[in-house]
Amino acid sequence: MLDSNHPAGHRPTWAHIDLEALASNFHVIKSRINEGVKVIAVVKANAYGHSAVECARRLAHEGADWFGVALPEEGIGLRRSGITQPILCLAGFWEGQAAACIQKRLVPIIYRLDLIEALDTAARDAGIITDVHVKIDTGMGRLGVRFDEVAEFADALKRFENIRVDGLMTHFAAADDPTCETLTEDQIERFESVGRLFRAHGFAPRYLHSANSAGIFSHPEALGNMVRPGGVLYGLWRDILPPSTENNKLRPVMSVHSRIMMLKWVPQGETIGYGCTFEASRKSLVATVPIGYDDGYLRGLSNRSHVIVRGRYAPVVGRISMDLTILDVTSVEGVELGDTVTLLGRNGDLEIPAEELARIAGTLSYEVTCGIGERVPRVYSSK
Ligand SMILES: *Cc1c(COP(=O)(O)O)cnc(C)c1O
Repeated sequence: MLDSNHPAGHRPTWAHIDLEALASNFHVIKSRINEGVKVIAVVKANAYGHSAVECARRLAHEGADWFGVALPEEGIGLRRSGITQPILCLAGFWEGQAAACIQKRLVPIIYRLDLIEALDTAARDAGIITDVHVKIDTGMGRLGVRFDEVAEFADALKRFENIRVDGLMTHFAAADDPTCETLTEDQIERFESVGRLFRAHGFAPRYLHSANSAGIFSHPEALGNMVRPGGVLYGLWRDILPPSTENNKLRPVMSVHSRIMMLKWVPQGETIGYGCTFEASRKSLVATVPIGYDDGYLRGLSNRSHVIVRGRYAPVVGRISMDLTILDVTSVEGVELGDTVTLLGRNGDLEIPAEELARIAGTLSYEVTCGIGERVPRVYSSK
């Protein structure tokens, strides 16, 4: 049952973050990998909207070995909140951030020699040798040194005396998609040969890693000695794991709730909301709730999604606006002002998964949870 409420002094719209579910998902992942394989818990983008600080604290307590962020500024935020584990910056760093990376003990990925120069200089100035993970592009075509240009890169790396190659990594483009299996297999093979090449050049990286959530579930044979789960930690899986994935005990971590702020009857034939996109086909009881697309309740859900009120689904009618959404609650027995409305997640026996909202809006579950706005307070529960 939902037992959370919004923090005092706020509009009654809140995201409930179930830290027990987060911990449980972490252990589901641990149970799928060999002992000794390190877990980089990916908490970039404010932990996909779930709050990086709160999630990292709990995951650290559960035994996460490393944390993964996109940007150094995100890593600095974790350091400020007392996270002491190693932090990998998955999107690298920019020239003005080299000194901060060193000072905050962030491990950036590297992919370009001119940036390594800046990091090497900053490390020398600080009198230390700094760790990096080299990002290899084995077939994604995005960030990283191309797998067929690695030899030159490894050669050039040797002259940076204050840089140590602690890890090599690559990223799968489509590990969840059986129709792209050839690409994934090519990526695995190319990455293995890159590892051999680096060793032949005299490097001794401690870590080799490639698996995101989809990789962990689809290619357990190719995990290296480190994995980088993101979405599955937050219980997002139906649209990012292979279609063959069965019930796997992952539990959604985020749910979003609000309360009815206005209830009124409208006569048959009247239109509701901006642009007259909905017309009442009968005398209807409509409810207004204080959440809109600025809060991440996507405008693309207008007239297409539903919510949970008093153990029933109630449809969204008319356009979702920036701050407000309208529901048809005609068939919700006993509905009252102030009733809790669940827009995402479970309430009682009913559930609206992020994957379902994503499908309706034509996007990915990640974009749904990342998009839950800053003005929606997060409320945490743990035992
Ligand atoms: C975001 C990210 C991950 C995590 O991906 P999921 O699909 O959420 O598991 C792993 N590796 C890299 C490089 C990433 O950027």
